[in-house]
Amino acid sequence: MDIAERYHALDAQVYPWFEAQWQRVVKLHDSQHLPHALLINGMPGLGKQAFAEALAGYVICHQPRDGRACGQCRSCQLLNSSGHPDLYFLAPSDSGKAIKVDQIRELSDFMHSTAQQGGYRVVILNPAEAMNTSAANALLKTLEEPGNDVLLILITHQLGQVMPTIKSRCQRVDCHPPQLAQATQWMVEHLELSEEEAAQLLDVVHGAPLAAIEFKEAGHRALRGKFLVALKELLQDKSTPFEVAASFHKEDVEALLSWLQGLLADVSRIKVGGAAAPIRNRDVQKMLNSVAKYTSKDRIFTLVDTVQQERLGVARRQNPNKQLMLERILIDWRDLVRTE
Ligand SMILES: [Zn+2]
Repeated sequence: MDIAERYHALDAQVYPWFEAQWQRVVKLHDSQHLPHALLINGMPGLGKQAFAEALAGYVICHQPRDGRACGQCRSCQLLNSSGHPDLYFLAPSDSGKAIKVDQIRELSDFMHSTAQQGGYRVVILNPAEAMNTSAANALLKTLEEPGNDVLLILITHQLGQVMPTIKSRCQRVDCHPPQLAQATQWMVEHLELSEEEAAQLLDVVHGAPLAAIEFKEAGHRALRGKFLVALKELLQDKSTPFEVAASFHKEDVEALLSWLQGLLADVSRIKVGGAAAPIRNRDVQKMLNSVAKYTSKDRIFTLVDTVQQERLGVARRQNPNKQLMLERILIDWRDLVRTE
């Protein structure tokens, strides 16, 4: 396999809820007791892949400091830029598919070669349960004679589906969801959520913070799609500002306003640069072109100002009636293209 295909940008992070596991593997490594194979086990959405990548970075680093990779040496530089020749990522070729025996054979070649930067060679295989039987059997052979200075990090989200023979040859690192208080605090700090929102979101995803981020993003994508349709229908008089405000005011209004702000910025770009102007919201280019065509710069700027003000108000929790505020903004949006 081409080396470039094996790389991806490193996301090496030890989330605070993995600190105990991290200390344990670092201690094993520093006392030269790190086994050849680790099986990182836990539910999805905890950050196990990032943990594995951080560990790979740590053992590959030439001069780790204070239990972390130095970030400066040649190895760290490679890891953080184009990729490191001694780190091998293995995953199904399509997500949801099996890891096949041919993939394991290529992996064995890598494991039995010599490290190009001197030191460890590391494999991150994710997820272990995706190996079909022949792939798992081929990996077993590799595990019996792993070669020197090789670390194989297997990640599993479903321990029950990993072959027992594989399990028995790996040292397990069990990862649990963080305590609610720790997870909540982390989410409040990193996602600009209130404690209550964070706790609610964590509930939905069984306490896995990264799954909560994904869930929130997926929800936002869907909400944006619905909002864009509603904006278009307003311009076409298929609905009224009152109706749209009524159906959206309980959603993430701050996000709605920020999207609207982005759309208006695009409209002014088109107004200035014509239909060929580079815009951000290309999925609604047609709508934006037609708004730009029928509106004036003054109307756009007035609405941009209003949206900006109201957005600030939402962030500071100063809007007593979000539905009414949204309705007023939507009237202005619709009126962008109305002739007096
Ligand atoms: Zn380093």
